[in-house]
Amino acid sequence: MDNTLTLSSSLGATTARAAAVAGEVPVGAVIVKDGQVIATGRNAPIGSHDPTAHAEIVALRAAAQSLSNYRLDGCEMYVTLEPCAMCVGAILHARLKRVVYAAPEPKTGAAGSVVNLFDSPMNHQTQVQCATDLGALCADFMPASSQLLQEFFASKRTSPVHPLRDDALRTPDARFENLPGYAFSPHYLSDLPALNGLRVHYVDEGSREARRTFLCLHGNPAWSYLYRKMIPIFSASGARVIAPDLVGFGKSDKPKKDSFHSFTWHRQCLLEFIERMDLQNVILVVQDWGGILGLTLPMASPERFKGLLVMNTTLACGDAPLSDGFKAWREMCAKKPDFDIAKLFSRGNPHISEAECAAYMAPFPDSGHRAATRAFPPMVPEFESSEGAAISRAARDFWRNDWQGQTFVAIGTQDPVLGERAMQSLAQQIRGCPKPLLLPHAGHFVQEHGQAIAQEATQWLR
Ligand SMILES: [Zn+2]
Repeated sequence: MDNTLTLSSSLGATTARAAAVAGEVPVGAVIVKDGQVIATGRNAPIGSHDPTAHAEIVALRAAAQSLSNYRLDGCEMYVTLEPCAMCVGAILHARLKRVVYAAPEPKTGAAGSVVNLFDSPMNHQTQVQCATDLGALCADFMPASSQLLQEFFASKRTSPVHPLRDDALRTPDARFENLPGYAFSPHYLSDLPALNGLRVHYVDEGSREARRTFLCLHGNPAWSYLYRKMIPIFSASGARVIAPDLVGFGKSDKPKKDSFHSFTWHRQCLLEFIERMDLQNVILVVQDWGGILGLTLPMASPERFKGLLVMNTTLACGDAPLSDGFKAWREMCAKKPDFDIAKLFSRGNPHISEAECAAYMAPFPDSGHRAATRAFPPMVPEFESSEGAAISRAARDFWRNDWQGQTFVAIGTQDPVLGERAMQSLAQQIRGCPKPLLLPHAGHFVQEHGQAIAQEATQWLR
């Protein structure tokens, strides 16, 4: 008995640790029959998009497979946390002989903490024990597992580096492993006043002493991944390249509420980011929301900016009607808030691989992480009084009258939303703007044809 318990408890802790590494609440479960471990499970509802993927359920399924029997007569389960109502239900269906759990769960525990479903007419054979009540027999089980849980929750809430705010989510790192073409080291920052602790991720490649810096801003629903083909070319030109993920996107934290997002707040974050990084000789690279927000930035500190590379985007000034293409996009996003982002990229970019398309979904394990993709389309300023419209008009005046830097415009002409017509009219608003480069095979996400653009732009913008 002792051996079994030690073995199963160490396994339980191991599977719980694996869950923690994957960003899940660290719960591990093992099932033992005749002194042998026959199945293990770790908590994985986020990673597997499965609200039922609790450690206990995962272990029950594996045990039933291994015995080729849906009844687990004579089996015992050891689990690091008190089971919830769903799991107790499944445990009773499986007719386990005994369940031993290490730490009580005061909010959802269904073995006595909130309710005791084991002590009900439904239960005919399963005993339940809390490891603390078993005393010396389980001495190594209980501390290990509750310490692990404590460490996990501590790392979520009070990590000294970038604690996660209670009103935000953080995409598990594992979602970003081995993405094709994106081997850039992550950089984080959370102490800008506007962020109030939210963690922002940015790519920072090339030399910090470089003469100029390409600042690459993405839009919705993309992230810095969109710039993966351009970043190496910019940095090979001797420049520094910085590509942040807007809050709500990529590896940056994701506020839970759609209503958290606003034009003014995102603009403020970008202004503070540029100040904090003290970027000089900036070549601003924008597309989509990267431009809707980004084109309003240089007028706040014109001395920092010396070049502009602009791809399919707009200045949403609120004094001209939004295009039918944009309205159709906005309507689609409202009707299908969980639309398939990978499919969106594959449709417009038949030349990129399935794995590359999937990488655009990496930041969003479930709809809870997608507040920003829901919030951004209706945030585009539509009327003169819309939030962001006045600042966009002021920016238009700046580009018309005050812009001193060089400009390079690249247009993906297949874009139904912000294609050639919108871009030619934007180009006319920019002082000293040369004839745009037309990319007849590129759609909205022009950066997917970014090598050619980056090559030409680095030649042009000196
Ligand atoms: Zn459960």
